[in-house]
Amino acid sequence: MIPALMPNYNRADLAFERGEGAWLWDAQGRRFLDFGAGIATSSLGHAHPHLVQAIADQAGRLMHSSNLYRVPQAERLAARLVEATPFADSVYFSNSGAEANEAMIKAVRKYHAASGHPERFRTICFEGAFHGRTLAMISATGNAKYLEGFGPPVDGFDHVPFGNMNAVRQAITKETAAIMIEPVQGEGGVRPADLRFLQELRATCDEFGILLALDEVQTGMGRSGKLWAHQWAGIEPDVMSSAKGIGGGFPLGATLAREKVAEHLKPGTHGSTYGGGPLACTAGNAVLDVILAPGFLETVDRVARHLWRGMEALAQRHPKVVTGVQGAGLLIGLKLTDAVSNTEMQGAAVAEGLLTVAAGMNVLRVAPPLIITESEADEALRLLDRACLRMTPGEAKAAAK
Ligand SMILES: *Cc1c(COP(=O)(O)O)cnc(C)c1O
Repeated sequence: MIPALMPNYNRADLAFERGEGAWLWDAQGRRFLDFGAGIATSSLGHAHPHLVQAIADQAGRLMHSSNLYRVPQAERLAARLVEATPFADSVYFSNSGAEANEAMIKAVRKYHAASGHPERFRTICFEGAFHGRTLAMISATGNAKYLEGFGPPVDGFDHVPFGNMNAVRQAITKETAAIMIEPVQGEGGVRPADLRFLQELRATCDEFGILLALDEVQTGMGRSGKLWAHQWAGIEPDVMSSAKGIGGGFPLGATLAREKVAEHLKPGTHGSTYGGGPLACTAGNAVLDVILAPGFLETVDRVARHLWRGMEALAQRHPKVVTGVQGAGLLIGLKLTDAVSNTEMQGAAVAEGLLTVAAGMNVLRVAPPLIITESEADEALRLLDRACLRMTPGEAKAAAK
């Protein structure tokens, strides 16, 4: 018989009862070091006092009003995001990454239509991308596995190999409206785009009058050690999506845009009942309080570099398990050898008390809360070392002791 909770996920047989910082406890009192952060989402860790207090206070005053009225919390959050993000002039709030991307693509299409080019509606996307699960975003993602059985894909998305500039240029037609890319492909295997490639995309967009649309749902809000991952390349997009870490675990999505793009989303063109409500935007403001505090991102960068050095040493110690380390900041992928599957490795880490997340291309994704200390990074490395031993033929017994 089908379970009451629809069986659309592959769930591990673990359920957590409470959390504190980078740590989670299950009902049996077992403690886990959470280096998955709910898929790069619990950016401030669990039960962060400032976030908890802000949400509790706001919930006790007003949870939901409506976009029929002004929402001061949303006005404040938008103003702060615009202030902190050089290219951005205006922000639209939603409730998830997929919705933030939907708004991004609608904004792109509207911009061209309103500029007298309704024929420009296609977006160039990349193989290995992940942009979410709505009907349009599975088309943008382009992965056959996610499209299977859901009817004809939404038209207007073309796919080229990640990092291939010739393929991008060949794919551009009179109908091309935008190029959409994750600065680091998250679900696809924690694959970073070359910074040069991002710079070339920017130049190509300018050359053809195309918009550069960045999906920073996973890479943004400090995860890379800068507020936005594209800042490492010294480029600016025309429009960008954010979600995951932006609410610190509270559902919130944002689409940030230049004025020339945002100005066409006039009343009636797009919207969401929940989007940008008082509670979600209070959570967003509380997260920003922490992330934009002086020194916070510098600390993320320092701890990330410390963790990277440890990961590279881990790869050297376990060449039969790990072949390389890739990603950016606190979004780290351990590329595993063909002899080891990422889901088995994930299980071995759980057995040692460490939570991670599998990603595509047989990569184990490590995405801890941004608030971790160097000693928590060291603890994760120690647990990963033991997990690697479990995965090494002939060493399993030694690890089990
Ligand atoms: C997770 C993710 C999404 C989808 O976000 P949801 O909140 O699950 O809709 C989109 N793009 C990227 C890059 C993501 O990592």
